[in-house]
Amino acid sequence: METAIKTVMETQCPFCSVQCKMTITEQIEQGVKKYEVAPKQNAASEGRLCIKGMNAYQHALTGERISEPLMKKNGEFVPVSWKEAYSRIAEQFTVLQNEYGRDTIGVYGGGSLTNETSYALGKFARVALQTKYIDYNGRFCMSAAAAAGNKAFGLDRGLTNPLAEVRESECLILAGTNIAECQPTLMPYFRDAKENGAFIIVVDPRSTATAEMADLHLRIKPGTDAALANGLLKVIIDGGYSDEDFLEKRTTGFDDVREHIDSIKLEEIVALTGVSQEDIEEAGSRFGQAASGMVLTARGVEQQTDGSMAVRNFINVLLATGKIGKPGSGYGAVTGQANGQGGREHGQKADQLPGYRSIENDEHRAYIAKVWGIEPESLPGQGVSAYEMMEKVHAQEIRGLFLMGSNPIVSNPNANFVEEGLKKLDFLVVADMLFSETAQLADLILPTTAYLENTGTLTNLEGRVLLREAARKAPGLAKQDWEILSGIAVTLGKGAYFSYSCAEDIFEELRVASKGGIADYYGITYDRLRREEGVYWPCPSEDHPGEARLFQASFPRPDGRAEMIAVPNQFPKERPDDGYPLYLTTGRVLGHYLTGVQTHKSPTLEARQFESFVEIHPKTARRLSIKDDSLVRVRSRRGEVIVRSKLTASIREDTLFMPMHWNGIQNVNKLTSEALDPACKMPGFKVCAAAIAPVPALI
Ligand code: SF4
Repeated sequence: METAIKTVMETQCPFCSVQCKMTITEQIEQGVKKYEVAPKQNAASEGRLCIKGMNAYQHALTGERISEPLMKKNGEFVPVSWKEAYSRIAEQFTVLQNEYGRDTIGVYGGGSLTNETSYALGKFARVALQTKYIDYNGRFCMSAAAAAGNKAFGLDRGLTNPLAEVRESECLILAGTNIAECQPTLMPYFRDAKENGAFIIVVDPRSTATAEMADLHLRIKPGTDAALANGLLKVIIDGGYSDEDFLEKRTTGFDDVREHIDSIKLEEIVALTGVSQEDIEEAGSRFGQAASGMVLTARGVEQQTDGSMAVRNFINVLLATGKIGKPGSGYGAVTGQANGQGGREHGQKADQLPGYRSIENDEHRAYIAKVWGIEPESLPGQGVSAYEMMEKVHAQEIRGLFLMGSNPIVSNPNANFVEEGLKKLDFLVVADMLFSETAQLADLILPTTAYLENTGTLTNLEGRVLLREAARKAPGLAKQDWEILSGIAVTLGKGAYFSYSCAEDIFEELRVASKGGIADYYGITYDRLRREEGVYWPCPSEDHPGEARLFQASFPRPDGRAEMIAVPNQFPKERPDDGYPLYLTTGRVLGHYLTGVQTHKSPTLEARQFESFVEIHPKTARRLSIKDDSLVRVRSRRGEVIVRSKLTASIREDTLFMPMHWNGIQNVNKLTSEALDPACKMPGFKVCAAAIAPVPALI
């Protein structure tokens, strides 16, 4: 009788920012492979796993993985050696740079890449290619909250205190965050808080599974979050709930905020937001009177053309009531992507060098240049944001693109325009493990590893750095991200700057590069991460425990105080009119992740939700003769999609909702607007004007 072969893989979920740990057991018995997935104890999810994590092995082990470099010849992909692939990249990029200048090559990364890849990718762009154009899809995930945190606190870290403190909080505002579907393993924290007596306020245009848990659901008009926060501030200030001692000692700018709030009438806020005065008053007074409180925001507030200011105004609410830097009191940006936090700290962002240093700051440039062994003058300057890179691609200012772990054709707003631009590129290289829609347009595809096959660190939404170690070999000829970047650098004659032999070598360099920076990882080592499970940054030395709760005594700004600023009530840039009479908002569903490249390859997840849909209120549907579960055409000024209708009273009558995980005719980003937040360049994914109509049945 054949003996069963058992392989046990200790790993970490590749999807959202919680980074739950798990054990996957593969058993081969009589030639048949079986898998068992068990959650593993870890501080963030406390040993819980959601359905995405339980099934994450399926896409990693699919037979559809890309396992060798593929070059497009006469319109067909044909396998080539790594040597040929590297030579072709070096040759094409060099020809383009000689003809159009260094900045004609763009580099585009992703928020699910490890810290080591994010760091190496930033260095690859600046040192190997010497282009200023690098950005990544995390721009769409974190930039509004990051801009707000940096300005208000002097530091941007997802949560300012550990998740466990949610249980201690007396009042929680969850603004534009659907934790129940996006980070489901965090729900027990909120349920426990509620059992402990916390009052939970959810701000969302939809009655989501998260909103069902709320004591008060503010069903806001999309895009009016900044105004709602002004309403809360009005109730707090007029009700005498502000913490004058904290405001005086720990903040600046409150007088301007007070003056601005004095000029606002609550009736205006009611008209703007569609939330009743009674509800605004209850929310403001509950939060104001609670002894502790937290505000968590996510894409609902942030993916707006005024997202960074809307977040700042929720931070104003926290500061006005002195609820930060104390147990159970703080701010949290609930990141979406696996490494949404670390991915924004180490240099794959247009304006940034490792350690959250600025590429426009001479001291920072000199420090990083020294670590990299180059002259500061040779470092390029600041580039542009992710969508602006797509505009440059369309305008053919960028003629060659190196893309790693991202699918911009589906994830960018105004997707038809983005696709048109990518088709104009002279040379597109895509490093990915699966055939994404963007990979299909590539001239060259480089096979990469899945989460089960690569070692690296990721920083979860709490700012806790975690080590994920490789648990199996990569299929075929697939290579680690850093090996690919080093291989190309060698062919470009820049190999001396990329002489790594493993991911830990890169982390050791990253530690030094981040030393003294805002996101200081110097005290974190792989050995420590193995021993301690995870370490919070900042962690300036190996004997430093890492800072779990930030801002207890001061804020890392020149005067040590948090900065408050008056935030005007703003409308979304694009508003409904006669031609496009409804708001369209977008989001996630429980079983899928980002553009679905990975989760659509999981039979279990795909079976749960195999097609997109549009949520519409039954009254609106009746008026437009739309039946439930029927095909409808949704249009905006930029394009149209055809999806199935889902009639539900859980959405506002003036609003439609579509998830973001599908491509082609179901891609909601064919409709979303290219308008960007001027401060952080976040696209306003969460609001555009749309029209909807039934698709006539074919006869
Ligand atoms: Fe945990 Fe998020 Fe993965 Fe679910 S998707 S298992 S919550 S890391």
